[in-house]
Amino acid sequence: MHPSEANALLPLALVVDDDATIRMIATQTLVQHGFRILEAADGEQALVLIERDQPDLILLDVIMPGIDGYETCRRLRALPAGRHVPVLMLTGLDDLDSINHAYEAGATDFAAKPINWAVLGHRVRYMLRAAEAFKGLVESQALLSSTQRIARLGSWSWHMVTERGQWSEEAYRILGYEPGTVPASVHNYLARVHPEESGQAREAIRELLSGKNMVEVTHRITVPGGEERHVKLHGEVRCDDHGRPMHAYGTIQDITAAKEVEERIRHLAYFDGLTELPNRHFFIENVAKALHHAKRHGRVLGVLSMDLDQFKRINDTLGHTIGDRLLQAVAGRLRDGIRAQDTLALAESDAPPLGLARLGGDEFCILLTEITQFHDTARVARRILESLAEPFKLDDNELFVTTSIGIALFPSDGDTPEALIKNADAAMYYAKSQGRNNYQFYGKTMNSRALEKLAMESQLRKAIERSEFELHFQPKLDLRSGRVSGAEALIRWRHPELGMVPPIDFIPLAEESGLIVPIGEWVLRAACEQNKLWQARGLPPIHVAVNVSSPHFRHSGLLPTVARILHETGLPPHCVEVEVTESMLMDDMETTLATLHKLKDMGLRLAIDDFGTGYSSLSYLKRFPLDALKVDRSFVKDTPAATDDAAITSAIIAMAHSLKLEVVAEGVETTAQLEFLKARGCEYAQGYLISRPLAADDFIALLTKTGDQPFDRNAR
Ligand code: C2E
Ligand code: MG
Ligand code: MG
Repeated sequence: MHPSEANALLPLALVVDDDATIRMIATQTLVQHGFRILEAADGEQALVLIERDQPDLILLDVIMPGIDGYETCRRLRALPAGRHVPVLMLTGLDDLDSINHAYEAGATDFAAKPINWAVLGHRVRYMLRAAEAFKGLVESQALLSSTQRIARLGSWSWHMVTERGQWSEEAYRILGYEPGTVPASVHNYLARVHPEESGQAREAIRELLSGKNMVEVTHRITVPGGEERHVKLHGEVRCDDHGRPMHAYGTIQDITAAKEVEERIRHLAYFDGLTELPNRHFFIENVAKALHHAKRHGRVLGVLSMDLDQFKRINDTLGHTIGDRLLQAVAGRLRDGIRAQDTLALAESDAPPLGLARLGGDEFCILLTEITQFHDTARVARRILESLAEPFKLDDNELFVTTSIGIALFPSDGDTPEALIKNADAAMYYAKSQGRNNYQFYGKTMNSRALEKLAMESQLRKAIERSEFELHFQPKLDLRSGRVSGAEALIRWRHPELGMVPPIDFIPLAEESGLIVPIGEWVLRAACEQNKLWQARGLPPIHVAVNVSSPHFRHSGLLPTVARILHETGLPPHCVEVEVTESMLMDDMETTLATLHKLKDMGLRLAIDDFGTGYSSLSYLKRFPLDALKVDRSFVKDTPAATDDAAITSAIIAMAHSLKLEVVAEGVETTAQLEFLKARGCEYAQGYLISRPLAADDFIALLTKTGDQPFDRNAR
C-alpha cells in the first residue's frame, strides 16, 4: 500500500508481524491516529523497508519466523535510518525476562499481547512526540558540537556537590585530550596549563568555585607534543537559595589564531617595517614607562636623538633602494654597537638598559636607562660615532655615513617623553650646526658642572699623547739610618688651561672610563726610567714606589706590561715597589692573591697603601706576600696628641712587625710625630716634614746633596 500525495505529510509507521490479522488491526488503529502505514511480514523485509522509507515509528512483533523481533531490533539500530526511530515491541509474553530482552535489543517501549488497541493508538502518538523531541535534541546537539568545533569553543560544567564535571568534545580537543578519555576535572584542566600561568588559572578557578560569579581568564596551555595554545576560560556560577555555589559552567575558547593576529597587528603598529626596530609610537611608550620607573626610584634617563648627516644626498644620487639598504645596515650597526656597550659600561645592571628605535626617515632614537652618571650617555654617543666610522659596502658602493647626535636627560631636560625627544632633537640640530658628526647635550645640561667632567674625560684621553702628565717624587726616609731609601712616584697633570691638576681630581674619572690602564702604564714606565736614570748618574740606589689602581691591577695586561717595562728599562725588579690599597686586597681575594704572587715572583716589592682605612682582617693580611705597610695619614695626623690615634698607630706598627712587614708612616708633618714613630720602631717615614713631592729635577738635586749622608731636612 502506497501513501497518497495528500497523506505525504503524515507520520509513517511500519508494522512488522507475521500474523496478517494483527497487521490489519494495527494498521486500522494507526490510520485512525493519523499515520501512514507500511507493513512487513518478517524481520528481513522490515530492515529493507526501514532503509528505503525511513519510517517514523515501528511496531515490532517478537516472535516471527526467520530473525526474531529482538534480532531485528538490534540490526535496525545499526542502520542510520533506524538509530533513533521509536520501536514498540509487541511481546507475547508478559514476563520480565522478555521485557529486559526487548530493552537490551534497543526497543523504546513494549506492549504485551493481547494488545489493548485503543490504548496503543494513544501510546504510539505519545512515543512519536517524544521521539521528535529527542530528534530535535540530537540535532541541536550535533549542531552545537559543530558550531563549537568551528568556533574552537568548548563548554564545561562542574557540580560542586557531586564534584563531577563535564566537558564538551571540543573542550576536550582544545585541551589536547581525546574526548571522554579522562574525567572532566579541575586537576586534568590544570595539568594542561602553561607552568608560567598556572597561578592565574588556579586563582580564577578558586574564585569561581568559591562563588564569584563571572570569571574570565586568558592563559596559555601546552598540549601533548609541546604545542602551545592561548585559551580564554569563561565561567559563571549558579547558587542555591542560600547563596551557596552549586554549579559552575562556562566556556573555554582556543584564541591562538586571534592572538597571532593580534601579535601581528601589534608588530605592524609598533615596529618599523624596514629595519624591524621599534617605531616612534613604541619608543614613546617605552620612554613613558622608563620615566615612570625613574621618577619612582630617583634615576637618571637619557634620550639620544640622531639623524644621519646628508642622507638625503645618498637617497637622491643612488636611489631609494640603496637608501633603504643603508638604513637597514645602519640600524644593524647601531644595534650591535649598543649591545656591546650594554655589556661594557653598564655591565652591572641586569635590566635591559637600552632601547633603539627608528622614528622615521633617517632619524633614530636611543633610550638609556640605568645610567649612573650622565657622561654614560656621552660614552654611548661616542661609540655610535665610532661605530659608523667604518664605510658601508652596498653592492659596488662604499658609503661613508656620519651622524649628529643630541642628548636630553631626565630630570634636567624634561619629564615627559615628548619633551625629552623634542629637546634631544634640538640638541641634535645644534650638533649639525656645529659641523655634524658630533654629539651635543641639550642646553641645561650643557651648563651643568657635569659637563666639565665630561670635557675633562675627553681631555684626559688626549693627555698622554700630548705629554701633559708628569711624575713628582716624594722621598721616603729610613728612620734607622736617616737616609733617603726610596721615593713614591705621584702623578700630576699639567693641564693647558687649568694648570697643575692633582690626582684626586682625575684618577677617579680615569678609573671610571678605563683610561687608568694606559695612564698607569705610563706612570710605571716613567718611574722606572727615572730610577734607572738616577742610578746611571751614580746616585745611591733607591727604590721607587708606584701606585696601582684597582682597575689597572685587575687588568689582564698588567703582568706582561710590568715585565716588558722592567726589561726595556733594565731596572732591577727589587727597585720597584707596587702600592695597592687595602680595600683592593679585600675584593676578589683569590685573583688579587694570584696577581700579587706573580709580581712577587718577578722580584718586585709590594706595599699596602692607606692602611687602616679599609677593613682588612689580620688573618687575611697574613696570606698576602707583602713587604711593607703604609699607615694612613689620618692616623699619623693627630699623633701623638690624640691618644686614640697614637694607640692605633702603635698597634698597627706592632701588628705589622708581627707579620714581618716594614712600616711606612704617611703624612709626617711634625717632629713630634717623627719622634713618636721612631720610638715605636717604625722603619720609614714620608711627609711634608721630610719633603713635599718634588719634580724630577728637584728630587735629583736632593739626592745629590744628601748622597750617602743621613738626611738633614734643615740642610736642604
Ligand atoms: P697616596 O698614594 O696615599 O699618596 C700620598 C698622598 O699624600 C700624596 O698626594 C702626597 O702628596 C700626600 N702627602 C704626602 N705627605 C703629606 C703630608 O705630610 N701631608 C699631607 N697633607 N699630604 C701629604 P697626591 O700626590 O695628591 O696623591 C693623592 C693620591 O692619588 C695618592 O695617595 C694615590 O692614591 C693617588 N695617586 C697619586 N699618583 C698616582 C698614580 O700615579 N697612580 C695612581 N693609580 N694613583 C696615584
Ligand atoms: Mg701611595
Ligand atoms: Mg697613601
